[in-house]
Amino acid sequence: MIAALFAAREGADVILLEKNEKLGKKVYITGKGRCNVTNDCPDLDTFLHEVPRNPRFLYSSLRNFMPRDMMALLEELNCPLKVERGRRVFPQSDKASDITRALEKGILKAGGKIRLHTSVQGIFADGSGMFKVITDKVTLLCKAVIIATGGLSYPSTGSTGDGYRFAKEAGLEVTQCFPSLTGIETEETWPAILTGLSLKNVSLSALRGNKLLFDEQGEMLFTHYGISGPLVLNLSSVLAGTDLNDTQIFIDLKPALSEQQLDERLKRELIQNGSGELNRIYRGMLPGSLSELFAKLTGIDGRMRCAQVSAQNRQHIVKMLKEIPLKPASLRSYSEAIITRGGVSVKEISPSTMMSKKLPGLFFAGEVLDVDARTGGYNLQIAFSTGVLAGKCAAEFAG
Ligand SMILES: Cc1cc2nc3c(=O)[nH]c(=O)nc-3n(C[C@H](O)[C@H](O)[C@H](O)COP(=O)(O)OP(=O)(O)OC[C@H]3O[C@@H](n4cnc5c(N)ncnc54)[C@H](O)[C@@H]3O)c2cc1C
Repeated sequence: MIAALFAAREGADVILLEKNEKLGKKVYITGKGRCNVTNDCPDLDTFLHEVPRNPRFLYSSLRNFMPRDMMALLEELNCPLKVERGRRVFPQSDKASDITRALEKGILKAGGKIRLHTSVQGIFADGSGMFKVITDKVTLLCKAVIIATGGLSYPSTGSTGDGYRFAKEAGLEVTQCFPSLTGIETEETWPAILTGLSLKNVSLSALRGNKLLFDEQGEMLFTHYGISGPLVLNLSSVLAGTDLNDTQIFIDLKPALSEQQLDERLKRELIQNGSGELNRIYRGMLPGSLSELFAKLTGIDGRMRCAQVSAQNRQHIVKMLKEIPLKPASLRSYSEAIITRGGVSVKEISPSTMMSKKLPGLFFAGEVLDVDARTGGYNLQIAFSTGVLAGKCAAEFAG
């Protein structure tokens, strides 16, 4: 959408082909229907820090069109915005549909045409410097083509990986794809008992062998298959496409306290509650359903009198509060993943134009590329920045 908007603004004769009955079906479900449209990042380095794969490839496109530019564009298109915690930007209306509507109006105002219900079947260079775009309705002859077909996640929104096929058919390398920013299934089944319980201000870490892969504080959620929520999605971005053998996840329920501080607190409470049950202490320290389960996780009978808890028991309880272990079994599938890791290899694409190095006139933008970011509005901004550059450069290429 944004590539079409900027190409049309540059005066190109633009046709946006969309196979769905409306534009931006995925945008409608972003940010739980509110669309975290970008991140009001103060500078480029802060932004690129949130991009685990191929951040340097994005340098030119982001510098050319920063989150602030996207925010200004939306305001100009009559879509007022607000900035929330973590610099996350949303439409003031809390309606994702306002973002799509603003872009759609912008495209039409700039003279771009939109063809809905039109599925592209193939894109081929015809040998005379033009491209044949074959759809289920018509075949178009174009001077330049921008492929912005998205990835493989949430295929019900239209992103079914067609762009990877078009790229491969054009002889371009496509790296292996994996679901990312998704929930993690655990070998342990106990998280299912806590389904729906969200933990705030916990810390999640992951080790592979002795190597620390991840260590962050925030919010997580227990589900029927294991764990999810913001912290877990970002952890999945590190684990996506890697061998999970030898990987161990730990939940720190009390990240603000060191083991020693926690031990002192527990010691105090055990003395104060001498004849009471150990379970009572858990109830004071942990949210409802977790406090009930915690005794089972420690293997120490929760009905034990506090006065009977040995120093060894105490040490074990502290260890469990600081490091509940979980073994990741697998990541949830594309149908639940927020993004796709992998895609059209960045080695194939010029970062300053988004054009294929092998096939001049063929451009790529958005999630179809092998770049992905963490949660927080960064993925849409990557689509916007690469889209703007592709739109402008495609228009210039087409003359
Ligand atoms: C549940 C969910 C929540 C998310 N929330 C956020 C968020 O709050 N903030 C954020 O930054 N990111 C979020 N994302 C990620 C973000 O939505 C994507 O990274 C972004 O939409 C990618 O944009 P894109 O234009 O590259 O691809 P898409 O948005 O997937 O658009 C591709 C379009 O191409 C069309 N298409 C595909 N193949 C063809 C074909 N052959 N012919 C014609 N049309 C075709 C599709 O129908 C689709 O409309 C979320 C993703 C999901 C799944």
